[in-house]
Amino acid sequence: MSVPERLAEVRERIERACARCGREPSSITLIAVTKVFPAAVIREAYDAGLREFGENYVQEFESKAPEVQDLAGARFHLIGHLQSNKAKRAAELFSVIQTVDSPKLVRRLDEAARPLDVMLEVKLSPEQAKSGADPGELPALIGAVRAARNLHLLGLMTMPPWSDDAEVSRPYFRRLHDLAAQLNLPTLSMGMSHDFEVAIEEGATHIRVGTALFGKRTKP
Ligand SMILES: *Cc1c(COP(=O)(O)O)cnc(C)c1O
Repeated sequence: MSVPERLAEVRERIERACARCGREPSSITLIAVTKVFPAAVIREAYDAGLREFGENYVQEFESKAPEVQDLAGARFHLIGHLQSNKAKRAAELFSVIQTVDSPKLVRRLDEAARPLDVMLEVKLSPEQAKSGADPGELPALIGAVRAARNLHLLGLMTMPPWSDDAEVSRPYFRRLHDLAAQLNLPTLSMGMSHDFEVAIEEGATHIRVGTALFGKRTKP
């Protein structure tokens, strides 16, 4: 199947999920996750109409970035863990860093002196990846981002432990939604190919979709 065909299917899934919970499809930002795929796939997705892209690794995107610089209006989100020693380079390459999880990272990103949108990655259970801030750390992190000159806080991001069953993700999505509501943050990045409908039902504003748009990634 081609990228435009897959995109049409994903858009339909988004529309059906929105219809079930009375939301507008235009309130959902679809982020095309292009990790592992070559720059040509980013271009293909751009030609199909996509403008927001997610990449997991600074180094990988560094090698693709020169080939996609000409894509006007394209925005690149870092959605993988960021080490603070790569913060400066990440700030040069990406428009949005979704995985901010420590005051040190906030400091390093701010020092890069480039305007950046950021989200805070939240770890909601011990089964989740090692990265992410504990919910209790969020108020201090929010304070740090708000005090930073060059950073603009959008909201929260999470990635539930993997399961084939999308319903397993629901309590995590609900928890992230409740945290964002308490903290008065408008943006929620949650939901991937297999569970984005559930994420939409639970209030996602940004969904991160790879496999459903580009097919299976072959592990290097
Ligand atoms: C790879 C990845 C995705 C996309 O996953 P798919 O299952 O391919 O849609 C979304 N978010 C993060 C953080 C990822 O690493």
